[in-house]
Amino acid sequence: MAPLPVEFVQSASKHSQLPDSRAEITVVGRSNVGKSSLLNALAHRKKLAHVSNTPGRTRLLNLFEIVDPKDKRPGLSKTMVDLPGYGFAKAPGNMRAEWQAMIENYLLERENLLMVIVLVDGVVGPTKLDVQMLDWLRANGLPHSVVATKHDKVKSSQRDKRKKAVAEGCDLEPRDVIWVSAEKGTGLDRLRGLVMTWLQA
Ligand code: GDP
Repeated sequence: MAPLPVEFVQSASKHSQLPDSRAEITVVGRSNVGKSSLLNALAHRKKLAHVSNTPGRTRLLNLFEIVDPKDKRPGLSKTMVDLPGYGFAKAPGNMRAEWQAMIENYLLERENLLMVIVLVDGVVGPTKLDVQMLDWLRANGLPHSVVATKHDKVKSSQRDKRKKAVAEGCDLEPRDVIWVSAEKGTGLDRLRGLVMTWLQA
């Protein structure tokens, strides 16, 4: 499958500053989960998510347009928002609270948000913060999917066990977790297909 045609549009500290979207997905996960690597791999672009990793932008909402060549309707675009990685252990409490409010307000209030992709480190498994995020999404009835990263780092002899453990940690069935490797390309086509399906609004 062709790379996702993704273009960076803008960053903002409030979702109200972002342009409206026809259909949007968003990606969340703790820092170091492999979010930039995955976004770059999905789009086949080395420095796409680098845009959102430049200092100052790591703590903002970063909006990308997903250009659907089959959708010629004028007007609003299909979009993806890269959310700041959570788990800023070193940040002062009030800053953490600000980021949390930014993310929560975005997730609760953004129009046409169709899917929240929660990245979980396939090697480490879901952390306490990942589980908190999943519980919060469930409590608020927000549609979400779990994507486990770094599939290549799990030894093939351990994979079945890992897949069961990661799913269990997320309170899901193993078939409900999408495994990917940005490094080896595993699962990327499936995820690209799912993204395009989620965006068919
Ligand atoms: P981010 O902080 O979530 O954006 O994470 P990065 O994309 O910067 O990745 C964090 C670290 O994990 C980097 O050292 C990456 O090279 C590594 N990494 C990310 N994805 C993969 C993967 O699929 N396989 C392997 N082996 N390493 C990965």
